[in-house]
Parts: sequence; structure tokens; C-alpha cells
Amino acid sequence: MFSEKLKTEQPFATKFFESALSSKNGLPAEAEEGALPLLNAVYGRQPSNGKLSHAYMFTGSDPMAQYNLAMRIAKILNCQNNASVDCTCTNCNWIKQNRHPAVITISPIDYCYGNEGGKPKTEITIAQSRYLKQALSTASQYHRVIIFTDAEEGKEQESKAASFWKNYEGELTHPYTDMSEETRESWIPKPLTTKIFDSAPANALLKTIEEPSGKITFFFLTKDKEDMIETIVSRTQVIPVLSQNRETPDLSILENFFKVFPPKNPAEAIAYSERLLEVAKENSCTEEDLLIMMQEYMRRLFKANAENKAVSEKIIGNIQKIQQAQDEIANYVNTQAVFDSLMIGLIKL
Ligand SMILES: [Zn+2]
Repeated sequence: MFSEKLKTEQPFATKFFESALSSKNGLPAEAEEGALPLLNAVYGRQPSNGKLSHAYMFTGSDPMAQYNLAMRIAKILNCQNNASVDCTCTNCNWIKQNRHPAVITISPIDYCYGNEGGKPKTEITIAQSRYLKQALSTASQYHRVIIFTDAEEGKEQESKAASFWKNYEGELTHPYTDMSEETRESWIPKPLTTKIFDSAPANALLKTIEEPSGKITFFFLTKDKEDMIETIVSRTQVIPVLSQNRETPDLSILENFFKVFPPKNPAEAIAYSERLLEVAKENSCTEEDLLIMMQEYMRRLFKANAENKAVSEKIIGNIQKIQQAQDEIANYVNTQAVFDSLMIGLIKL
């Protein structure tokens, strides 16, 4: 369903969607242990139990990774074969070329049909919303996937876009616009904000998002759910997508720490937590940096243990716990408390 590469990069999101997408095919949902309770804990909302929701909000600082994940899910939902990574069925191929009629990217410069003169705007317009609403009210043989994102293109983005698309060569490319003959190689997605997608065009779509007619899945690409209006947030399931474009952190300051990792009992866990925060102070790095380092360490462990299902599942669980700690710190939960409970969560069973 997902490539090993994508699973390593996005252990949490891929595990979550593997479960949601397998129930679509009538297969028993795989063990949701970890993913669903975690979502509950982090977002305080009851996710639809292993089933595909109508709408997802991706969060994080890597819109390209989010776009790639949404497009991969579009392939899985429309594949005429078994949704293998290298499938070459008509639908998978169309989506790979970003020319599938049922997989639509909506940004101020995409899907301009509703816009006067088809010209790009600086925000998603209410005319675009109305046009989309109309288009989605007709029947389709496909599972339609609508991706909302901000985007930019042009000379200034060329080199950034080139290196972006190179990472996803053979899997995905930039969208096309029927109205534009120009190539769109400099197109790159950007996170949505309320400025780009404000209440009027968003509210025009609420009913469609909540109760779409037929098989439709919406994705909203954002940095943080705070960047979107509440009426949209409350209708989506929020899924964190890990960034792939940040620099690999230097783990050397935690070298001694990882030598005796993980803690074996609560007393050790608390001692670890205290020591970690001291290390952060001594090296004047932030708590967020520490967590990014720990996540990177787990990712390396995951790569080294990808063949061992039991161990890799455990590591995925640990990565999720670290992600949760990051969310808590971002939400101003007391740092010591976050690290204490994280370390207790990481105790070797
Ligand atoms: Zn296919």
C-alpha cells in the first residue's frame, strides 16, 4: 500500500491510513493500537473507528510531504489493481502525471474554472468554491480526492521546485491547468492560512465537506490547525505529517544518553528526564530540538530494524509518543511534566 520509504518517513500517518484504507476494501482494519488512541489523546476527538473520514487536515512544516501523501492515498483509492506501489493501471498513471479528472488540486492558482477569466488569484475564491460544489454534486465512477493548498509558481521558485520534484521523481508531478498551456514545473505547494482560505469560500463548502454525495475525500494542507478557520477544523481529522526537508540534526550531544537508553523503570525514567533537560541547558538547545533529535534517533533505529515487525512497531509507537510530546510543548504544557511522562512512556517493557 505504502512504500517502505514512505513508511519510514511517515510511520505514524502511513500506519493510520493503512488501517483506514483497508477497511474501505472490506478487509479487517489492522491493529489500530497506537494510532487511534494517540489521536484521541492529542486532539481530544473520537476518530471514525478505522474508517476513512470525509476530510483530513495535514499539519507540519513540509507541504510537499503532505501533497505526496495525499496523492498516494488518491492512487490507493482509485487503483484498479491491488494498490501496489509500482502499479501502472490507468488511474495510478493518471494520478502520477497529475492529470486525473477526479483528483483535483485547489489553490489560488489551481482549478481556476470558477474564477473570472480563469486567472490565478491571491486567495481561494468563493467562485471556486461554488464551482467545486457544483462539480461534486454530479455522480462520478471515481473516488474523488480534493486537495486544498496554497501554492506558488514562477521564476523565483524554479530551483526550489526543481529540487522538490526531484525527491518525488517517478511518483508524482506538479498539477496541470487546462487553461494554461505553460509548463508548471515551478509549482510548489504552500501551507494554507485563513488569509488564503477565509470564511466565505470555506463556509460555502461546509455542507459538501461534511456530507459529500458519493465517494469524496478532502485534504487540507496546513502548518498548524490554528491556521485554519474553526468550522473547517471541526469537520476534519487532523493528522501530523513529519517534515522531510529539515536538516538532519546532530545527535552528538545525546550520545551518552542513548548509550543507556531506554529507561527500565519509573525511577530511572524520571532521572533520564531530568538529565535530558540539563543536557539541553548545558548545550543551550531548546526542548523542541531535543525532541527532534530523539525522533531522528528513533527513525534511524527504525531503518535498522525495518525487517523486524515487533521491534519496528514498538519504534513507531515511540515516535508517536515523541510527536505527542512535541504537540504538548507547543501547547505550553509544563516542560518537566512532558519529559517525565514521555520517559515513563518509553520504559523498556
Ligand atoms: Zn493502480
